[in-house]
Amino acid sequence: MAEVTFSGDLSAPDPVPEAGIEAAVRLLRDGRLFRYGEDRSSIPEAALLEQEFAAYQGRKYCVAVNSGGCAIFLALKAAGVCAGDKVLVNAFTLAPVPGAISHAGADPVLVDINDRYVVDLEDLDRKAAESGAGFFLMSFMRGHIPDMDAVVEICARHGITMIEDCAHTMGGGWNGRLTGTFGKAGCFSAQTFKQINSGEGGLIVTDDEDLAARAILLSGSYMLYAQHRARPPMEVFERHRFSTPNCSMRMSGLVAALLRPQLASLDERNLRWRRIYDTLAAELAGIDGLVLPARPAEEDFAPTSMQFSVSPDLLDDGQLAHFIQDADAHGVHVKWFGATDPVGFTSRHDHWRYIDGSAAGAVPNADRILSRLCDFRLPLWLSEADCRTIAAVLKQAVAAARSVGNGSEKIRHTA
Ligand SMILES: *Cc1c(COP(=O)(O)O)cnc(C)c1O
Repeated sequence: MAEVTFSGDLSAPDPVPEAGIEAAVRLLRDGRLFRYGEDRSSIPEAALLEQEFAAYQGRKYCVAVNSGGCAIFLALKAAGVCAGDKVLVNAFTLAPVPGAISHAGADPVLVDINDRYVVDLEDLDRKAAESGAGFFLMSFMRGHIPDMDAVVEICARHGITMIEDCAHTMGGGWNGRLTGTFGKAGCFSAQTFKQINSGEGGLIVTDDEDLAARAILLSGSYMLYAQHRARPPMEVFERHRFSTPNCSMRMSGLVAALLRPQLASLDERNLRWRRIYDTLAAELAGIDGLVLPARPAEEDFAPTSMQFSVSPDLLDDGQLAHFIQDADAHGVHVKWFGATDPVGFTSRHDHWRYIDGSAAGAVPNADRILSRLCDFRLPLWLSEADCRTIAAVLKQAVAAARSVGNGSEKIRHTA
């Protein structure tokens, strides 16, 4: 039988909409790339983006910054995290997340995850009590959303301030409420492989006036903060303007110009992502032992990538490595969280050796789950036919992997 190969490039990003390109060219022509002007003849793009994103999120304040990782760092600092503080964080997350905690001088305390790849509520409750941490950084890694009503309840019971890392959930929500509105602040990314793409960029939303003023000052507003449009009243800045360092992490006007039209079409694009995910999920449902996470009805997910776990009954460790290779050789670049060495974007908590291991806490479920966890991007341009081809490549790679290693007696229904 002829082999199936996917000829698209799963790493190819989506283009910036024409309206964004035109706005960027206008800015380039007049040179006003810095987000603040000293005169106020026109409204800067970054201030407009903040106003529009605050409105989208239904929050009072928004601060645009240079990356998602910096948004998290600034939100932690602005929420009062100090050097030596402990910050709880789910163990399945991306390297910039423990990086942001470390940047703030604080120590991550890892919380275990469950088979939905989200924070384990019992472990959160236990570690909140044991660690005495005052903060929880809730990271919606790869867009998976836990029962946020329960998370909010646990944090409230322990007097913990929650900051949300929504790098992969812009427009996603739980039980009808957007991520980024459950905690004291929500942090977003505009890195190329997230919901909106400006290469680099970050956004913080909050309803807390002191956190907002401090985040604006920390981001590097100088004394030009009056030019923000989604900011607290000027008197709030009086409380903080002499005691808050300028960390120079502003968003440039150019980045904001690229993002504004993408924000305007966010919901429509998330629906397309959802259709891509559902099409692929239906195709992959036919492979026994290739397990997709349960998606409760309350989870309004906005998937920019797809994860699945490979059961040891389907493929042993050697066969799993073979599966990854075979899929790659046929055009589907699957990332694996179980690799000994971190590759590309995919690293694991035990690779972050700057974390104080004794304080970090054991996460046995994360270790078990990540050793079997596969991941691939879902570019928005995937057609239904593309989804079927990708699923066929994965099925073919399972069959190829099962034919090596443990002998033919392991081969079942691989046709
Ligand atoms: C991408 C990402 C970040 C960091 O965003 P950057 O803009 O790349 O700094 C943080 N958390 C998660 C879960 C991410 O996927």
